[in-house]
Amino acid sequence: MDYQGMIIRPPSEAGSVLLQVTLGCSHGRCAFCGAYLGKRFGIKSRETVLEDILYAARHFRDQRRIFLCDGDAMILPQERLTDILSLIREHLPWVTRVGAYANAKSLKRKSDAQLAELRELGLGIVYMGLESGDDAILREMGKNGDAAFIVAQGRRARAAGFKLNVTVINGLGGVERSMEHARATARALTRMDPDQVGALSLMLVPGTPLFERCERGEFEIPDARGILRELREMLAGTELTRGLFLANHASNYLPLKVRLPSGKQAALDDIDRALAGMTPLKAESARRL
Ligand code: SF4
Repeated sequence: MDYQGMIIRPPSEAGSVLLQVTLGCSHGRCAFCGAYLGKRFGIKSRETVLEDILYAARHFRDQRRIFLCDGDAMILPQERLTDILSLIREHLPWVTRVGAYANAKSLKRKSDAQLAELRELGLGIVYMGLESGDDAILREMGKNGDAAFIVAQGRRARAAGFKLNVTVINGLGGVERSMEHARATARALTRMDPDQVGALSLMLVPGTPLFERCERGEFEIPDARGILRELREMLAGTELTRGLFLANHASNYLPLKVRLPSGKQAALDDIDRALAGMTPLKAESARRL
């Protein structure tokens, strides 16, 4: 397989064939993000992608899922994306689901009919970064669009039939806007009503603008208990009709996997026990991105 640079995928795509169709991220300006530092955005050639699909057809016959890397395959022109999905269907007919990252701006560029076409061709799940529901934080972090815009695009993705996974980041409001961040994010998640929420805890990456701000004393991340209080507030305010609220990423201090709405109270009780010191939190040295 032709892999260029670091390859990133969501935790739930651990067993998937990773097919790199773009390089880096088409936005690349989020202050906290070190995912594709120094990697210039580009689109891989049809020949390279086809060679990888043919390689997968020979060697990965047991894998039923494919994830399209890098940062935002949804940015590809519709003809390229439909071509890739058609090639997957032709050469890997046993694949049951294709997944991709999709940012709100890329979704906005597709019409409802185009999204439906992608769904029909096998794109089954999209992973979106909301990060925060607070517009001031989104602006400060260089995110593409405000919360209402991101929510609207997430709702369109769901309406097109995609499974929707939404990432949020605890700590992104710093100490100063911790509770505003938690409450506004809970409201945005409730409006979006995704199938899965992935809650990460902020970790600073050297080389990012947010890292520099922290070094200069302009931004302060809440400590472990502060992050946990924020997570509690966010979970308490999030109403999903059905779905998973996952805070089991390696960056989190207390791993949680909550089925909403039924599991909410038990999870809030777990957090309260941790806040009371009855459950140990993950050591700082054990956290990972
Ligand atoms: S957070 Fe997502 S959209 Fe922002 S720079 Fe990183 S990969 Fe790109």
